[in-house]
Amino acid sequence: MASSDAHEQAPPTEYDVAIVGAGPSGLAAAIYSARGRRSTIVLERNLAGGQMALTYLVENYPGFPEGVSGFDLADKMKAQAAQFGAEIHEITAVESFTTTADGRHAITTDQGVVHARAAILAPGVEARRSGVPGEAEFIGRGVSWCATCDGALYRGKQVAVIGGGDSAVEEGLFLTKFADAVHVIHRRRELRAEKIIQERGFANPKMHFIWDSVPKRILGKDVVEGVEYANVKTHKLATLPVNGVFIYIGQTANTAFLKGVIELNEQGFIVTDELLRTGRAGVFACGDARANPIKQIAAAVGEGALAAVQVDKYLDSPECPPTGAKT
Ligand SMILES: Cc1cc2nc3c(=O)[nH]c(=O)nc-3n(C[C@H](O)[C@H](O)[C@H](O)COP(=O)(O)OP(=O)(O)OC[C@H]3O[C@@H](n4cnc5c(N)ncnc54)[C@H](O)[C@@H]3O)c2cc1C
Repeated sequence: MASSDAHEQAPPTEYDVAIVGAGPSGLAAAIYSARGRRSTIVLERNLAGGQMALTYLVENYPGFPEGVSGFDLADKMKAQAAQFGAEIHEITAVESFTTTADGRHAITTDQGVVHARAAILAPGVEARRSGVPGEAEFIGRGVSWCATCDGALYRGKQVAVIGGGDSAVEEGLFLTKFADAVHVIHRRRELRAEKIIQERGFANPKMHFIWDSVPKRILGKDVVEGVEYANVKTHKLATLPVNGVFIYIGQTANTAFLKGVIELNEQGFIVTDELLRTGRAGVFACGDARANPIKQIAAAVGEGALAAVQVDKYLDSPECPPTGAKT
């Protein structure tokens, strides 16, 4: 990738396809694109793998009857994309996205500008913050969104999990490997998690459920010492002494850099048609950041493949600008 200085001195490096995000969706798109012999660059602000790489055990991705570690799956997808020639640039954050008058796309990163004839946006989502007092203060000192990363720190301790969906219960179950007790605080009387996950949650003696309740404050001096919560029906406050609070209350799309450039829905997810085209020629979107009804690895991979196939067609179409400096 050309640095901004180099970009001023030399013709810019141009790729056929630039992919933003190396989660399962971006990596699947990269595999298809590179195998189609399109010069492909993947820009990833962290390490490749996205949310998948932080999942301890993925049990519903086809082909792995025993389940597979999300980290291993990410590693394999990355190797597969690289093997076919995709250039994967990690720790490279995309800051802005524009389209030049000739229809090419300029993607500005913290390390320079990338030019491409087509783009696939796969920036995924990140965990939503609860905004309760104490949350920001205790990040890394007891507040976490990643059981796989931090769970082992809570061996023999008490933890709270906030939320009632798949992630909350699955990650809570993972935490029972370490913690003595996992208290799930959920704002409703019923979980939203898949039935099979609910059954496992209720069957695990270390899992405890606090219904109809929301966190009000995370308590502690230097590290988390408890969580104060309120019953949403009675408004009664109670305090639960815990050493860790894991928050799984939904997600926000990583689309701030696209605001005003690409159409987003009210929640900030990218709007596309059924062929994953955004309103801008040559720009496609896939995976969790897209306004779609399913946020899962299998769906993200499927959309990545579809986006790459559509891009391939676009690159051969008269609508696409011709090849420039380099392919
Ligand atoms: C705790 C947890 C457990 C889960 N368990 C399962 C499960 O068991 N089975 C299942 O099918 N699904 C599971 N999921 C959901 C699954 O991980 C996601 O649906 C999937 O990872 C979405 O893939 P994606 O590629 O669209 O986005 P992501 O995985 O979110 O990847 C997007 C990537 O884009 C990068 N990015 C974002 N913005 C920028 C930028 N500006 N510049 C550069 N890079 C950027 C991010 O760093 C990230 O790596 C789980 C999710 C969580 C949080």
